[in-house]
Amino acid sequence: MRLVIKYGGTSISTSKDICTVAKHLNDLSKKHQIVVVCSAISGTTDDLLEISESIKKENKSKAEQLASKIINRHKQLAKQTIKKSNVRKKLLTNLDADFTELLALIDGMVLLGEVTPRSMDYLTSFGERLSIQLVSSSITDLGKKSISLTGKEVGIVTDSNFGESKPLMDTTRLRISKTIDAMFLKKTIPVVGGFTGADQHGHVTTLGRGGSDYSATIIGSCIKADEIWLMSDVDGLMTADPKIVKNAKLLKEVSYIEAIEMALFGAKQIHPRTFEPLLTKKIPMKIRSSFNLKNEGTLVSASTSSAVSNTVKCVSNVKNNGLIDVQGGSMVGTPGTAAKIFATLAKAGINVMMISQNPSESSITIVVKNTDLDKAVSALEMELLGKIIKKLEITTDVAIIALIGSGMRGTVGVASKVFGAIEKNKVNVSMITQGSSELNLAFVVKNSDTNAAVQALHDAFALDKIN
Ligand code: ASP
Ligand code: MG
Repeated sequence: MRLVIKYGGTSISTSKDICTVAKHLNDLSKKHQIVVVCSAISGTTDDLLEISESIKKENKSKAEQLASKIINRHKQLAKQTIKKSNVRKKLLTNLDADFTELLALIDGMVLLGEVTPRSMDYLTSFGERLSIQLVSSSITDLGKKSISLTGKEVGIVTDSNFGESKPLMDTTRLRISKTIDAMFLKKTIPVVGGFTGADQHGHVTTLGRGGSDYSATIIGSCIKADEIWLMSDVDGLMTADPKIVKNAKLLKEVSYIEAIEMALFGAKQIHPRTFEPLLTKKIPMKIRSSFNLKNEGTLVSASTSSAVSNTVKCVSNVKNNGLIDVQGGSMVGTPGTAAKIFATLAKAGINVMMISQNPSESSITIVVKNTDLDKAVSALEMELLGKIIKKLEITTDVAIIALIGSGMRGTVGVASKVFGAIEKNKVNVSMITQGSSELNLAFVVKNSDTNAAVQALHDAFALDKIN
């Protein structure tokens, strides 16, 4: 089989974990053609982002302190992980060249006193640049040929939307298949840095936070992989957050569309575009833990077998949001009201998580993250209050509870079961949405009611007996 195997940062953050990963890859390579994709070692991207914050605040010493932290951590991992002295020496030399470049970049950014989206992408790309060398050298250490490649080197070409770039798939496909085919011919395991690519001018770009998952599916679709595995520290997708529901179960199988909903609702942090490249090629994906290889994880695929026929697959929750109820008599029957409200929020850079409008058209309810609430309310107040809107009613600290499952489509009685269970727990619901796809039924409760609501629904749909 042709496999693309992606590791999250937590799977490669200690010397022991890197060795386990290298050994697993070495074993797999005896039977399969594999491409490895790695995230940065856990915490590195956050540290790099903090460096950029420090530069913005003209705090040079803090930036340098963080850079030293990153450098020392990788150096130490290299020394602890690699046994053969020639492999270790070569790795340390290569890392040193990257450390020098990183420090020069920070110096340059400090000197300019400005952080642009482009320089930020260049900076954050270092996390993956460093991690892939550790993993690749660790494979070499076991006597297997391996090479590390950045997203740019493997051939991921993107637009120039720094920070949130999208791949130009046709060019990318040509370049990646050429690079990877050459590796397969040489029986060399490529270890590719996720999250990053380069635009047509060769400037380093990133695909957005958590983008390594997306890199894996981009590469998988370009080389017509048979399977893509996302390895992390969780066993797979669950019926609910196990911290809330003690008897939450691992989902053996879900469809792409269900997985997209689950990713958006934070069941497991997966980059939302991850599934895009898979939809047409229909490549199956497994979500697995690198710490529990006996477990096959969750299979995500296009075809929905009998296991997928459960009405509801999972109850997820997103806490700490704010609800804004936008009201006004002049909103009734006025075309363009919603457009004005959302354009105002978009201009302020606010992501809207949930929307509902009652048919009387006299109010529109919006849910945003608590952290965006201030900005959202002041933007609406400044632009629209007293014009098309009369009043804003705000509720802080609310949670979105979402039921996900394609089996809800056309099934009678789901809503009554949901709200029956909620009512028994005396939980008040302040907003409800369901798209006509019926894949996702979501509602809003107080933060403090989250656990009770999630547990009640998990029980009502007997999700502990799924699979
Ligand atoms: N290292 C990047 C991040 O932390 C990409 C990833 O982990 O997928 O967002
Ligand atoms: Mg990650």
